This record gives sequence, C-alpha cells and structure tokens, in this order.
Amino acid sequence: MQGTGTFWMPFTDNRAFKAAPKLFSAASGCHYTDVAGRAVLDGTAGLWCVNAGHGRAPIVEAIREQAGKLDYAPTFQLAHPLVFELSQRLVDVFPAGIDTFFYANSGSEAVDSALKIAFAYQAARGQGQRTRLVGRQRGYHGVGFGGISVGGLPNNKRGFPLLAQVSHLSATLDIASNAFTRGQPQTGADLADELLAIIAEHGAETIAAVIVEPMSGSAGVLVPPVGYLERLREITREHDILLIFDEVITAFGRLGAGTAAERLGVIPDIITTAKGITNGAVPMGCVGVRRAIYDTVIEAAPGGIEFFHGYTYSGHPLAAAAALATLKLYADEDLFGRARELEVYFEDALHDLVGAPHVIDVRNMGMVGGIELAPREGAPGARGKALFDACFEAGVLIRVTGDIVALSPPLIISAAQIDEIVATIAGALERLD
Ligand code: PMP
Repeated sequence: MQGTGTFWMPFTDNRAFKAAPKLFSAASGCHYTDVAGRAVLDGTAGLWCVNAGHGRAPIVEAIREQAGKLDYAPTFQLAHPLVFELSQRLVDVFPAGIDTFFYANSGSEAVDSALKIAFAYQAARGQGQRTRLVGRQRGYHGVGFGGISVGGLPNNKRGFPLLAQVSHLSATLDIASNAFTRGQPQTGADLADELLAIIAEHGAETIAAVIVEPMSGSAGVLVPPVGYLERLREITREHDILLIFDEVITAFGRLGAGTAAERLGVIPDIITTAKGITNGAVPMGCVGVRRAIYDTVIEAAPGGIEFFHGYTYSGHPLAAAAALATLKLYADEDLFGRARELEVYFEDALHDLVGAPHVIDVRNMGMVGGIELAPREGAPGARGKALFDACFEAGVLIRVTGDIVALSPPLIISAAQIDEIVATIAGALERLD
C-alpha cells in the first residue's frame, strides 16, 4: 500500500478540521452523538434536511425493506412503480398546478436540471432565442456550473468558468431599514422592479427564466420583503418569462407548509427541491413543473427522446421509498402544522437575542432563524466561527455563514430544546470578543 488515503472534505477548512476533528457516529431525534459519546443538540436539522428528526423508524424500515426488494432499477426507458407513486403523492405537497416531477440526487442537480428544463421548454415553444437567465446576488443554487452562474456568492464562483448570459437582481437584505424584523420585512418589494431594468436592457424575448430562493437560507437567511415575490411573479408573467423557486431548503414544512410558494401565496412555474424530501436519509433532488411545460417539451419531439438529460440514479428506488415514507410521516404527525404553531415560540425565543453582544440583526420565517453578528474588525467570519466552536463545545450544533448564524432545527424540536439552543448562543455571545 502506498501513502495514506484521506477524505477531501467539501466546503471545509480541511487542515483545521483534521487538526481537531468533529465526528458524529449516531443520531436520534433532535440529537447527534459524537464519537466520544457526547450528545449534541441539532439546531440545524443536519444541513436543513432532517425535518422529521433523526433515525425515524418508518423511514429506516422503508429503506431497509426496499433495499432487499428492488435495490436499483434504471429510469431511462424503464422504471419502477414507486417513482410514479411518489410523483402522485408529491402533487399534494406542491402547490396547485405543479404536478410533474423530474428527479435528481441533490439540490445542485435539481437546479441544473431546472435550468435545462427552462431552456428545453423555451426551445420547444419556438422561443429558442430565450437564452438568458436571471438570478440574484447572494443567491445559493448549489455548486453545478448552472447553479453557480445564477447564484450570487462570490466565493463559489471565483476561479470557475460561468454561463455567459446571466443577469442578477440585488439581494433583498437591508439591515439599515429592517433590522430585527419578525417575519417578512415591510419594505423592499420595489427591488423586484430591477427585473424591469434587466428586461429593458436585454429584451424580454431573450430571457428564459428567473430563479430565486423564496427565502434564502445558505447565504444567511434573507426573508423576502412583503410583496417582493408577488411583484416578481407579476413581471415574469407579463413578459412570459418562467419563474423558478429554488425550494431546496424551504419545502417540506420548513416554513410551516409544503412549500414556500404555498406559504407565501406566490406560485412559480418550476420548483426545485431536495433535502427534506427524504428527511436527508437518502440523497434525492426533485424538479416540479407545471404540466404545460412537460407537455410542450414532450409534444415538440414526437417519436423520439424529448429531453437529453437524466441521471443514473434519477428516481432511485431507495430514495423513492425513503421519500414516500417521509411524506407519510410528515402527514401522520402533521409536522408542517406543528412547524406553523412552533414558529411563534421560535420567533420569540430568537428575538430574545436582540441586545445580546455583537448582534446586529435577528430575522426569521417559519422554522428558520438568522442571527447576524457585527464582524470583528479586520477578521470577517472570525466571530461566527468562534461562536460555532463555543456552541459545539457546549453541546449545540448551529450553522454559521461568515458572521451569520442560521438555525433550522428539526420540526419535532420541543420548546425546551429551543430554549436550550438560544440560551447556549446567548451564553457564548457573552464570552465572545
Ligand atoms: N439550492 C438551495 C436553495 C440550497 O439551499 C442548496 C443546499 N443548501 C442547494 C441548492 C444545493 O443542494 P445540494 O447541496 O443538495 O446540492
């Protein structure tokens, strides 16, 4: 044997990690257990995905059973019944009108699939000149080349070739006007009118789709101003441009409803999702589209393959089984309803941090909370990292992006556990310089 193998960790300071590893070996309910046997309260539902809590028996059983029954089947030219059953079931979770589903294995793949679907649709209806995409500053749409092109996080884009015809709207966060807002900020809807300027510059007839997260998670919890998404919907409809909501984080109860689209009453043409679709237990991404989009693409290529795109694991039997069991669990325990009820308590608890040292904003929607810290002078991100380490040390897992804390606990979390997370953060902030 030559040399020693190692794991190249994603989005990680590999040297720092390997000097002081944090390793989980088990999880149950709202807790991880690390390799030393210490319990860590999961304030982030893994990476925004374990909405029903960890190690849920019906999901575990469904995966186990499916693995023994049909471990794998292709979905190119063949398929298996579960993936159709799942598509039927998802109709109840997605907003009215979105009833056709394409499967991928992650949020990134779902986004790149959705962008290709947008191009395929435009071409199929004779609008092949619509080759421009519109994203948003600070948007996160995964790490595929399409996703980083429409995304707006400079670190993720730097050094990579990007799609050429992409315009970006401004991010909606305005701490100067909206600090410590509970729920949606009242001002900022007019930022959607920037789309009119992009249309004026390039012509609506060149734009295929606009993609935004209805509520940005990964970039640091950016809650949409009242009226903003409505305005985007209005403009895209007026100019016959597809509107895509990237709901990789916001679907499956995170905002107290099946989707953010439902919660906010704005229905796009395409929704991308992943994460909570299987409660994080098996990788799966999904693109939901209006039936007319599917029909148009299908009808444009009679007698042939209509869409040259797909993955070996699209609609994988284990993922489909996990998703079906997950959706049933969400329904059986009314976890979306629970999230809606718990949101009030969670919001109050989060806003107890107003006035804590270094805190310059607290924002929230559904079971998502963002706490923004003033950066330490000359060392952006240092406070966030110190807070993460202090909370981990104290047995609470939070997520930080730079100096912004993002909380997204499992929807089964108790009020006492919410208090524990907030008290741990408050205590750690007191000790931070
Ligand atoms: N889109 C959004 C809105 C996300 O939040 C994420 C992941 N946090 C992704 C896409 C990418 O998902 P994945 O990591 O599964 O590729």
